[in-house]
Amino acid sequence: MTDTQERTLVIVKPDGVQRGLIGEVVSRFERRGFKIAGLKLIWIDEALANEHYKDHIGKPFFPGLVKFITSSPVVVIAVQGKDVVKLVRNMMGALKPEEAAPGSIRGDLALSKSFNVVHGSDSPENGLREVSLYFTDKELFDYPRDVENWLKHE
Ligand code: ADP
Ligand code: MG
Repeated sequence: MTDTQERTLVIVKPDGVQRGLIGEVVSRFERRGFKIAGLKLIWIDEALANEHYKDHIGKPFFPGLVKFITSSPVVVIAVQGKDVVKLVRNMMGALKPEEAAPGSIRGDLALSKSFNVVHGSDSPENGLREVSLYFTDKELFDYPRDVENWLKHE
């Protein structure tokens, strides 16, 4: 990975998997031009949920959040690119349904601030932390793509 590249953790949450939206979500990041560095279906257990969402421990919605995120398999994706953290957050849309812009994943696909289809890391530091929480080094690939020449994402 070059200095300008970032990685972010995207999760297609339980509601997204149950509603058949895995392909819809993955395809948006693919079509935008980001590199998929890792991807798998997993079932998050309570310990991993606590670690992932440790900043939210103690908040009123925390028990419901852990119950939700452990309620079904999820798809975890390590997405790579320049400024990928901020760009993916924009593509996800805001947490509040009334603020999620049309065209964003939440703005197009979600009506709830708890069942909201998708997770994305909120900073480059958390991107690296969260990617390493879900993927081993052997599960991540930084492969050349000829299409980089046509993306001009410099
Ligand atoms: P984001 O997912 O946009 O980064 P947060 O980090 O603030 O949002 O919250 C993490 C997750 O916790 C949200 O995606 C949502 O599933 C849940 N959550 C956050 N705030 C609330 C709330 N007020 N009520 C219910 N669930 C919430
Ligand atoms: Mg967050």
